[in-house]
Amino acid sequence: MSDGKTDDVVARLKKVRSEVLRAVRDAGRPAQLVTLVAVSKTYFADAILPVLEEGQRVFGENRVQESQGKWPDLKAQYPDVELHLIGPLQSNKAKEAVALFDVIETIDRPSIAEALSKEFAKTDRRPKLYVQVNTGEEPQKAGIAPQDADAFLARCRDEWKLPIEGLMCIPPVDEPPSAHFGLLRTIAQRHGIKTLSMGMSADFEAAIQMGATHVRVGSAIFGHRS
Ligand SMILES: *Cc1c(COP(=O)(O)O)cnc(C)c1O
Repeated sequence: MSDGKTDDVVARLKKVRSEVLRAVRDAGRPAQLVTLVAVSKTYFADAILPVLEEGQRVFGENRVQESQGKWPDLKAQYPDVELHLIGPLQSNKAKEAVALFDVIETIDRPSIAEALSKEFAKTDRRPKLYVQVNTGEEPQKAGIAPQDADAFLARCRDEWKLPIEGLMCIPPVDEPPSAHFGLLRTIAQRHGIKTLSMGMSADFEAAIQMGATHVRVGSAIFGHRS
């Protein structure tokens, strides 16, 4: 494969990787503690394959159904792929999500926690689980409100027996993101949570500065989505 588009994707991946590494170094943090999640939503397997061939193994998708169409085959070819669900999950898709994803980043309400808890009773698969926090308290955005996060995390632990490994946020587009990243980190620290999924194409460097362990980068790698 050597068409221009493949070259572009690989070149952008390499650029993002080096920018991530530089941000990690600038922050004085150990490089292996920051994972690049390549967000491949809306892209077909032909765009994803060159990124896999370049050694990238951690990917993010925002829709269960779209992922079911492309990832089972890709995972068969690359069994060490780690697939993250980064979009809203519906309760009636919990079974499919648990079957396909390795990490579910978007637990954002009691009904989802309950659905996952029920699904865990039926299967041995155990994707890692993150809670999404709506740090900007935006009505149109998913996530637990910051002031409800402590109680929700306690319920996940005590009522639904769900081990919550990380927190995730998407700051408002029109605000400087660092205060939101700092808020997520503060909530995580209160609960001894070490994994922070924060930062996208436009702000992953700021997120790394604020302690992100996972940055979710889509368009800077795959190009602008139509
Ligand atoms: C699409 C998406 C991303 C990637 O966004 P880019 O700006 O393309 O890097 C990250 N996180 C979530 C939750 C997304 O839906």
